[in-house]
Amino acid sequence: MRFYSTNTPDTLVDFGEAVLRSLPADNGLYMPETIIPLDDAFWKSWKSMSFSDMAYEVVSTLLQGAIPTEDLRNIIDDALNFPAPTVRLDDQHHVLELFHGPTLAFKDFGARFMARVMAWLTRNSDDPLTVLVATSGDTGGAVASAFHHVEGTRVVILYPSGKVSGLQEKQLTALGGNITALEVDGSFDDCQHMVKSAFLDQETARKHNLTSANSINITRLIPQMLYYFESARQFDTPPVFVIPSGNFGNLTACLIAMNMGLQVKQLVAATNVNDVVPEYLASATYNPRPSVPTLSNAMDVGAPSNFTRMLELFGNDWGAMTETVSGFAFDDQETRDAMRQVHEQYGYTIDPHGAVGYLASEAWLTAHPEDTTIILETAHPAKFPETVGEELGANAVEIPERLACLANEPKVSIPMAAKPQALIDWLQA
Ligand SMILES: *Cc1c(COP(=O)(O)O)cnc(C)c1O
Repeated sequence: MRFYSTNTPDTLVDFGEAVLRSLPADNGLYMPETIIPLDDAFWKSWKSMSFSDMAYEVVSTLLQGAIPTEDLRNIIDDALNFPAPTVRLDDQHHVLELFHGPTLAFKDFGARFMARVMAWLTRNSDDPLTVLVATSGDTGGAVASAFHHVEGTRVVILYPSGKVSGLQEKQLTALGGNITALEVDGSFDDCQHMVKSAFLDQETARKHNLTSANSINITRLIPQMLYYFESARQFDTPPVFVIPSGNFGNLTACLIAMNMGLQVKQLVAATNVNDVVPEYLASATYNPRPSVPTLSNAMDVGAPSNFTRMLELFGNDWGAMTETVSGFAFDDQETRDAMRQVHEQYGYTIDPHGAVGYLASEAWLTAHPEDTTIILETAHPAKFPETVGEELGANAVEIPERLACLANEPKVSIPMAAKPQALIDWLQA
């Protein structure tokens, strides 16, 4: 199993290098050299397999032996130990709930799988793998939780002191064990600059096995294919997946699943006013630009990092992409209205990201009223208490125990000056 960089297609690297490097040196993105379709034997039995067996068949077909059978099965079972139910609202609308993981967002799928794959790749090394992350909020929490208790790894998180929410800070500072939080007396940009400097310091980077848990790491897309298989197999005909999108990793994962043979009627990309991709689908013009803040803030992306991968999968053919992918964009007022409408009509509490998805499903169903849509609910509504409270009342959503219990845990962090050398000295000590 080899990977090429989208900027230099004839240079191939193996799976381990693609995962541990995350980003090719030429600033492209890693893509699988070949995507092998699942065979007839799989499609004869996929609907009756256990989730674990189905997941193993899909991932092992993609990875072609890069991880031996038993190790791969353990990684999948350990990483994906929470459900992803598809909930019916009515015949036309379903919700695929991706928030049952430890940090209540779909990023748990990718981060937990990546953590275990990285630990497996470095299992014979004497030094632990050190994952360095700068965070302004949610990413650090998902990465910290994913690596917590994973042997042979440690995570060092840098966050700007006083600039993350109380519960977010607890997600970084209350875990302990192999997770260390550095509380930087500066901004998020300072944190990012410090992390970059540590990677550039070759001696430090080598000595401490530094790696990044960057969101464009190709391993994060692999487990994200699995919930499309899991959901689609519950229907007699190929469904329409509606995907609230920002960097388009989730949508790219579905495209890879479709290249392996998964039958999907259409992909609907749902965005907020950061609508670079819907605009491209409508006009064939790609115009990345600075993002603007919205209520669905995890989708506030003005230059989607996986767009290159989408183009690659369609051979850079706009027309081919529009046959498979449709796009719709909505503003914050529409998002608020949709949260209320879903609650009134179905008694279902949807978060602002899922609400954008709901609006896109309605737009699609206007022209295709008989279709079955499945909206991806990418985060738990409890992560957005302000917006949900304003629209649906303070009692509309309960904070799940696994998040609420963090509030009582002590915060443990190491204060640090906003200087690159401070981080390097700390790593050396
Ligand atoms: C990251 C995120 C998204 C966007 O996913 P992409 O794969 O970047 O398109 C959507 N919703 C939530 C809640 C997220 O955290």
